[in-house]
Amino acid sequence: MTATADRAASALERYEAVIGIEIHCQLRTVSKMFCSCSTQYDGAPPNTHTCPTCLGLPGALPVMNKAAVEHVIATGLAIEGQIPARTQWERKNYFYPDLPKGYQISQYAIPLAAHGRLPIETSAGPFVVDITRAHLEEDTAKLAHGEAPSANGYRTTLVDFNRSGAPLMEIVTEPCIRTAEQARRYAEELQLLLRAIGVSDADMERGQMRVEANVSLRPRGTEPFGTRVEVKNMNSFRAVERAIAYEVDRQAAALDAGEPLTMETRGWDDGRQATYHMRSKETSEDYRYFPEPDLPPLRVDQAWIDGIRARVPELPAARRARYAATGITPYDAAVIVADPGMTLAFEAISAAGPDLPAKEVANFVTGPHARLAKAAGLNGRGTAGASDPESIAAILAAIASGRVGRPIGRDLLDRHLADGTPAADLLATVASTISDEGALLAHIDAVIAANPRAAADFRAGKPVVGFFVGQVMRATGGAADASRVTELVRQRLGTEA
Ligand code: ADP
Ligand code: MG
Ligand code: ZN
Repeated sequence: MTATADRAASALERYEAVIGIEIHCQLRTVSKMFCSCSTQYDGAPPNTHTCPTCLGLPGALPVMNKAAVEHVIATGLAIEGQIPARTQWERKNYFYPDLPKGYQISQYAIPLAAHGRLPIETSAGPFVVDITRAHLEEDTAKLAHGEAPSANGYRTTLVDFNRSGAPLMEIVTEPCIRTAEQARRYAEELQLLLRAIGVSDADMERGQMRVEANVSLRPRGTEPFGTRVEVKNMNSFRAVERAIAYEVDRQAAALDAGEPLTMETRGWDDGRQATYHMRSKETSEDYRYFPEPDLPPLRVDQAWIDGIRARVPELPAARRARYAATGITPYDAAVIVADPGMTLAFEAISAAGPDLPAKEVANFVTGPHARLAKAAGLNGRGTAGASDPESIAAILAAIASGRVGRPIGRDLLDRHLADGTPAADLLATVASTISDEGALLAHIDAVIAANPRAAADFRAGKPVVGFFVGQVMRATGGAADASRVTELVRQRLGTEA
């Protein structure tokens, strides 16, 4: 345990943490929220994906993106939330250089989804996170601050409008989270869910999923909330957990010392592993929300909701339960479902080999397959190399039935993964060794000759066939059909009796 984690643990004996999480995620759509500019601006030169609408030029009119609305409704359904029959767009007014209109089109009074929940698993057991709302809005432009002052002595800041107007979903939880681990697990589970339903790539490092944590403390056993601090700039799940643990520790030390806490926004510095003051937040800003006059209210009828519900695929929790029911451990099920590449492989191999023991498939997927995918830098983004599920299933079936021994089978899998050689070709090379009965009998006779006492035991009726089969399999490097070896061993020992 690190010193910070240690102190946080002792702080938690005296204080209870109250945590609420706000997550912004970029939605996976072809075009932006209110114009037809493409959202594929990643890596594009600055200001090449713009139009009068997303530049915020006066007089340009917004047209809403139906796919983005459907993504938020799908998310709302996946978190068991309520979808109102009528909602509206509202202007959130504030000044900032990344927002040239002077307002952001968002939702306020009536979000597209409300009162949802997301069950999670933690080291202390299951926990349910209550979700206040999920709403739709537009993203801002991106500012690039210059390092050195320019010739006139000013520091330059450049504005890139490629991101301006991209569809953004904000998901806000109740202040119901009590530990840093619950917060991390919630963010992880939400990422899985968003990816499973295909609404967001939700990559934290690429800013597609931005997590903010609101943290306050209260003495254990008391009700009223303490002063809260908002923490930003965490770009990994680990950073979310660390930043909250750090904040709990920092706030406990301040409270113990009798220092008042202030409402502030803090950033997470991953290098220093500490939060730092960004700006104070003494009064809550007044955004003067009002209904967007350029867009009609949004009506969501039951038929539309039902259509979207019908397209929501199996959710991660249901998938984990289904996998665990096939006989693999809940741990393996969680590992596989947490990784899209492993999930794809598990599904494809199971489909190609419906009679395969699930444990055999799971071991392959979390073992050799995962190692190869990691080495290839796939990071859960696809299946490994030139392999095909039918071949994998065929080799696994040969292992499971004992047709090839485990060491040989593993070797065949590696060879298949390396260059995609079809299983039939690989198994044929092994089959040629075993089908040579003369060679096999030589191995068997040698093993019998080397173990006279066991041979005598067999003749005395003791159950030692397995011992001989094991020895023969070892002698052939696993390249023998175990059931054929069993027959031959019985024959040889019998005729010699
Ligand atoms: P804002 O608009 O300033 O972000 P919200 O009321 O929308 O404020 O709350 C944002 C988040 O902060 C929510 O997730 C909420 O649950 C959480 N929150 C509210 N009060 C507290 C508190 N005292 N301590 C921790 N989190 C809180
Ligand atoms: Mg906030
Ligand atoms: Zn545009």
